[in-house]
Amino acid sequence: MSEIGQIAAILATAREVAVATHIIPDGDCLGSMLGLTLALRKRGTSVIAINADPVPEMFQYLPGQETIIDPDQVTSMPPLLVMVDCTDMERAGKGFSNWQQRVEKIINIDHHVSNTRFGHLNLVDSRAAATAELIYAVLEQIPATFTPEVATCLYTALATDTGSFQYENCTARTLRLAASLLEKGADMPLIREHLWESKPLNSIRLLAATLPTLTLAYEGRVAWMTVSRAALEANGARPEHAEGLVNYPRSIAGVEVGMLFRELPDGKVKVSLRSKKIVDVNRVAALFGGGGHRRAAGCTLDGDLDTVVARVVAAAGEAL
Ligand code: 5GP
Ligand code: MN
Repeated sequence: MSEIGQIAAILATAREVAVATHIIPDGDCLGSMLGLTLALRKRGTSVIAINADPVPEMFQYLPGQETIIDPDQVTSMPPLLVMVDCTDMERAGKGFSNWQQRVEKIINIDHHVSNTRFGHLNLVDSRAAATAELIYAVLEQIPATFTPEVATCLYTALATDTGSFQYENCTARTLRLAASLLEKGADMPLIREHLWESKPLNSIRLLAATLPTLTLAYEGRVAWMTVSRAALEANGARPEHAEGLVNYPRSIAGVEVGMLFRELPDGKVKVSLRSKKIVDVNRVAALFGGGGHRRAAGCTLDGDLDTVVARVVAAAGEAL
C-alpha cells in the first residue's frame, strides 16, 4: 500500500491523535494542521493540535486555531503523533525534545526536500507546492468530509506557500485542488481580507524602514535587506511583520538570490533565502544548519548582524 493509503488507514481508525508542526508557524503549517485536525474531529476522533509558538494575528481567522495548545499544556499524550510541514523534530521547538520517546508512532507529512524522514511512516513529497496538497490526498483516501472550515484551512495553506499561486512550485494540480476547495466552501472573502487586505500599519512602516538597507553584490545577482531589533522596536513591529519582505530583493530584475536578515530577540539572526532559476537555496541554508526548498529556504545563525550577512552573502555568491 502507498504511504497515503497506509496513513489514511491508520487515521481512519485512530481514536486519539496529536497533530503538531514547526515553530514560527506560517500559513501552510497552520492550514495543514488545522485542516487535518478539523476533518478528523468531524469524524469523532479526539485530536490535540499543538504548537510551541502563538498563532500570528494574520492567521487568527483560521477555524480551530483557538484550540491549539502549547506542548507544555499536554498532560496525556495520545499514542499517535502526526507532524505536518516540519523537516525534523528540532524544528518543532524545545517543547518537543523527548517526544520521539513519548509516543508509539509518528506520522511525518511534509513537502520539504530537506525532510529527515524522522517518522515511522513518512509521506514526504517535495513536488507538492504545500503540505496541504498531501493532507488533501490523505483526507480523500480516509475518506473524510471536506467541510467549508477544512476547505478554508487547506486553501489558506496553498495560497500562502505559493505566494498567491505565483511561485515555481505551483502546478496544475495545485490549481485544481484550490478550485476544488472553493467548490467545497473555502471562505474567500474571509481569506482575502486577512491575508491581503489587513496589513498592520506597523508592517508597512517596517517596510519603509527596511527598504533603505537594500544592498546588491555579485553584479546585482545577490540582493538583501536587514531588519535590526532597533528597527522592529522603532516601528512597533513584531517579527511576523517582516514576513514577505524577502520578496522585495528577490523581485528586482537581474537578481538570482534575494535574502532577508532579521535580528531575533535572543541575539541570533534568522535568514530567509529565495532564488529564481539557478541557485538551490536549500543547499546554501544547509551550510548553516537550516533547510527548506530549492527556491525558498531559511536558517538561523549565532552572531551579530554584520558578521552573519557577510558569511551568508559569501555563500550565496559561491552558489551562483
Ligand atoms: P522563511 O524564509 O519563510 O522563514 O522559510 C522559507 C522556507 O524554509 C520554509 O519552507 C521554511 O519551513 C524553511 N525554513 C526556514 N527556516 C528554516 C530553518 O531554520 N530550518 C529548516 N530546516 N527550514 C527552515
Ligand atoms: Mn510548507
